[in-house]
Amino acid sequence: MKNGVKNDVKRLYSSLNTMYYNLKTKNSSRYQSKGKDLESFSEVYKVWKPPGGPNVILLRWYMTEWCNYKCPYCSQTHGRFEPKGDNLKAHSFDNFPIDRWLEAFRLHFKNVKLSLVITGGEPLIDKKNMVKLLTAFNEMPEIECVRIDTNASWNVDWYKGLDKSKIILMCTYHPSQIEEHQFFDAIQKILDNGFHIGMINFVITSETREKYFEYKNTFKKMGVPLHPNPIWDKSGHHKKEDMQFFENELPTVDYLYRTGTKSPKGKKCLFPSLAYEMDFKGNIHIGCYPKTSVNFLNSKLPLPFPGPVTCPNTQCACLDKYSFLEGINRNVTTNPLELYSQALLERK
Ligand code: SF4
Repeated sequence: MKNGVKNDVKRLYSSLNTMYYNLKTKNSSRYQSKGKDLESFSEVYKVWKPPGGPNVILLRWYMTEWCNYKCPYCSQTHGRFEPKGDNLKAHSFDNFPIDRWLEAFRLHFKNVKLSLVITGGEPLIDKKNMVKLLTAFNEMPEIECVRIDTNASWNVDWYKGLDKSKIILMCTYHPSQIEEHQFFDAIQKILDNGFHIGMINFVITSETREKYFEYKNTFKKMGVPLHPNPIWDKSGHHKKEDMQFFENELPTVDYLYRTGTKSPKGKKCLFPSLAYEMDFKGNIHIGCYPKTSVNFLNSKLPLPFPGPVTCPNTQCACLDKYSFLEGINRNVTTNPLELYSQALLERK
């Protein structure tokens, strides 16, 4: 089949799928917010679905698979221009120009507020596009919060003139790729230049494990919590001593969900009712519902579910997501990382 026809068929399929989901969620009592739900999620509703509107949408944007590091445990392809099918590459801005992304942001989110998570790969290495993107986001009042996951290896001077008030960083320390003193210097410089760092994620291996408490104290003095991130062993499990780390260092719910000790299946969750997940090709779907995928740049977005949904998955290790589960209800602002950061700092 020729590419043009293939794309038309894909677009038609997406539109039908979107219509189907929108009809299904609109008419099914299963997905409506009932009085009991409104009550149990009330603190979160006040912020994300306030009675007078506008609603807040959380968008997790997996912007790129491109990263300047080559960590031995990383499963990504890394090459910026790696072919990724459909004549597309590993980075959002190599697939479509930044102006098209911005145009789509303005179109889709004009009647809501937005809390963004930009992750990768390493998003901040692309200074040309990121300065432009973040400047544009600053000018869009609908965008409330921009969290960026980064390895902190970029030059902070690239972002010197930028207003950083909406931005929160999650910086990961990969000891196999950068000397200790270089990472600490980079973090200090990032802070000195007005960025807010929500937490430092420390990749723990058997060689680096003993450094955890020393680093924790040093970063705490800088006002930033350290988060343990032990890597899985070959069987996909954490070692006993690493599980102990999680249990001692994390708030209980985070320990339970991050380690997969507790399953969310069957519990009510608000994430699919207020979130989208998008990749570097522009494929975007309702949070946790990949079958609702459409293209961000040329399609109408499927509507998120109107109320809480029964979780279909047995694992949920992502902070942005499980924090929307009934009973956890942590996300009472539009900045989930900041809330987690405070919870970590409050632990001894
Ligand atoms: S996987 Fe996580 S975010 Fe998704 S519905 Fe389940 S609990 Fe919610």
